[in-house]
Amino acid sequence: MTDRQALYEGKAKIIYTSSAEDELILHFKDDASAFDGEKVEQLARKGEVNNAFNAFVMEYLQSEGVPTHFIRRLDARESLVRRLDMIPVECVLRNRAAGSLTKRLGIEEGRVLEPPILEFFLKNDALHDPMINTSHIRTFGWASAEEVEAMRRWTVRVNTLLKALFAKADLILVDFKLEFGRYQGELYLGDEFSPDGCRLWDAHSLEKMDKDRFRRNLGGVVEAYLEVAQRLGVPL
Ligand code: ADP
Ligand code: MG
Repeated sequence: MTDRQALYEGKAKIIYTSSAEDELILHFKDDASAFDGEKVEQLARKGEVNNAFNAFVMEYLQSEGVPTHFIRRLDARESLVRRLDMIPVECVLRNRAAGSLTKRLGIEEGRVLEPPILEFFLKNDALHDPMINTSHIRTFGWASAEEVEAMRRWTVRVNTLLKALFAKADLILVDFKLEFGRYQGELYLGDEFSPDGCRLWDAHSLEKMDKDRFRRNLGGVVEAYLEVAQRLGVPL
């Protein structure tokens, strides 16, 4: 690829243009970041592990009827996706209490949330991704009422699919974050699904196997991602 241009460099990925106008290349970096980019480190192999992990999950979701931006993996670190008009809202689904929920509401970590909790956050680092509700989304025009309903439905569907997929690998899907966007008038799942944007605990020891290892300086971050990938059968 000689004709490509970097469009945007985020915390985890670089987005390049592709030869097709309606497609983009996601380049997964080795950078790990937390606390709105306050803590950043390079973790060897993280980019390729997340690229492979994301490809595996996106292909699985697509095979189950979830509309995703994913087209194909290009090489170890890069994947081709449909270019979406991104909705600046992060959809978070929680099966167990962890992270900001425990702090905000004083709920003990690990408590089973039944039914699961769905939250929306504005994707804005400068404002520290504040929590918002459907009323904010509508009034400020971040998404239509139909899009909010579709994001809600697809997030719940992804939870049903992935909870079962991870359970087979002896992993608890504690929570996860999704980003959606528009393509030719339809809503698509975008961005990535990797241990950077979800919490996964070993089903027996409850050991953390996700980015909390990085946030909490537990060590063995990429090793845990590799273990999760191996249990799921992600080719690496
Ligand atoms: P950030 O630090 O902003 O989260 P990342 O490093 O995760 O950035 O890079 C991904 C960026 O690209 C995000 O802003 C994300 O919303 C956006 N993005 C993800 N998938 C697509 C897509 N298919 N089309 C356009 N933009 C996308
Ligand atoms: Mg991101």
